[in-house]
Amino acid sequence: MEELQADLVVVGSGPAGQKAAIQAAKLGKSVIVIERDAYLGGASLNSGTIPSKSLREAILDLTDFYKRSFYGTTSEIKKVSINDLNYRLNKVLEEQRAILQRQFDKNKIRVIHGSASFASSSRMTVTDNSGKISQNVQFDFCLISTGSKPRNPIHVPFDADKVLDSTRLLSIDHVPKTMLVLGGGIIGAEYASFFAALGTTVTVIDKRDHLLPLLDKEIGLHLQKALSEIGMKVLGNKEPEKITRVNDHVEVTFKDGTVETAEVMLYALGREANVDTLQIDKAGVSLDKRGYIPVNALFQTATPNIYAAGDVIGPPSLAATSMEQGRLAARHAFGAQTHHFPTFYPIGIYTIPEISSCGYTEEQLKELGFRYEIGRAYYYEIARNLIVGNDPGMFKILFHADTLEILGIHIIGRAATEVIHIGQVAMSFNARIDYFIDQVFNYPTYAEGYRIAALNGFNKIKHKK
Ligand SMILES: Cc1cc2nc3c(=O)[nH]c(=O)nc-3n(C[C@H](O)[C@H](O)[C@H](O)COP(=O)(O)OP(=O)(O)OC[C@H]3O[C@@H](n4cnc5c(N)ncnc54)[C@H](O)[C@@H]3O)c2cc1C
Repeated sequence: MEELQADLVVVGSGPAGQKAAIQAAKLGKSVIVIERDAYLGGASLNSGTIPSKSLREAILDLTDFYKRSFYGTTSEIKKVSINDLNYRLNKVLEEQRAILQRQFDKNKIRVIHGSASFASSSRMTVTDNSGKISQNVQFDFCLISTGSKPRNPIHVPFDADKVLDSTRLLSIDHVPKTMLVLGGGIIGAEYASFFAALGTTVTVIDKRDHLLPLLDKEIGLHLQKALSEIGMKVLGNKEPEKITRVNDHVEVTFKDGTVETAEVMLYALGREANVDTLQIDKAGVSLDKRGYIPVNALFQTATPNIYAAGDVIGPPSLAATSMEQGRLAARHAFGAQTHHFPTFYPIGIYTIPEISSCGYTEEQLKELGFRYEIGRAYYYEIARNLIVGNDPGMFKILFHADTLEILGIHIIGRAATEVIHIGQVAMSFNARIDYFIDQVFNYPTYAEGYRIAALNGFNKIKHKK
């Protein structure tokens, strides 16, 4: 058995672990990454962010989705095979894995494949596939970045082709004709819209009466309308009671006695932290009530030399936020100058159409008692959108009615996840709404929506004064 020593041990090679490992190596520290999967990259690269977004782009391209408004109708969806979709997916995964491996090699980060568990607050053991301890690693600091997995209750009969979670969905061998999606959160809503765009008849079912409750309500309604236009159905106020596979389809019985059937079902009712084999108690760390590892604002656990970042510490549970959490944790551990995690960060939701937001929703501002005003720009007012395909969408900018400071930006429509960053930067400098009026924007662009929305909002204020 090998005895190893490192300044930093990182458990898990997802976005949080990668950025922590590279940051520590850049600070001149010795780093070991322990990863139990055969591939580096975590759920983000192997079963979550990158596969789902690669599939999305492949679907949009291969079905000529954006050409439909000019050259066709939704009833004429181009047939696409799973092989066509997987071809692109596999190419992206191969490239991304190779890039990550090169980054680790360049920074002399040692990778050990195996399952890590704590022996104490300064020692880990690594178990190989056969269950044998292969290495002991002594460390000064440790980052737990073991991520999350789908929350799969034992009474749901998951299998490889019909009763699926977001990981199993990636292995289906054909495009289904009908699909039930249980859960209208981000993962459920995204995949539902992808398959609806492919021509599958999709029904999303949730216990709430609308999708994505985290959204600004107006944006949520806009989404619901856009999704119904691509044929997707949403059934609210329903909770599943029994899920069974019956021959070649799945049957879901709900608590209200109703039954829905489809060729496949995606179960997307949440995720849970990957902590079961870590033995964190041996390191003096315990879980909170929801099963996540509690940390302070610097990502330290109750044991100060042990940090945790990413999905394992709970929401927002995004690759985007996990990366920055990991980087900040490593900087703090080794005494490099650092800062608190930003208060405002963008959230990207890659439904078709996509959504991105930064800052407060209108509902939050009401609850907090802010005096606010709203500037709106609809995509039909944006020249670039008319040229590119006349897709649905809107910009909604919330700003303080007295100080004019921007308080929230919500965009739904093509390029939303890209153009949000203009607003994010403006907000991080406490910009006022008139900032967007006083700037020249490239024309025609989607970004011009900021200017149109700002003029719309500013004119309302001018009127009142
Ligand atoms: C379908 C889907 C779509 C998503 N889309 C987006 C998106 O568009 N944008 C976005 O920002 N986020 C998205 N996410 C979320 C994103 O994938 C996660 O937030 C991110 O992967 C979390 O990173 P992490 O580093 O915390 O952990 P993970 O990426 O989960 O990686 C954790 C790693 O730790 C390893 N591990 C676990 N336990 C052990 C152990 N005991 N020993 C050794 N190794 C261990 C695992 O094998 C895994 O490789 C999506 C997620 C899903 C499921």
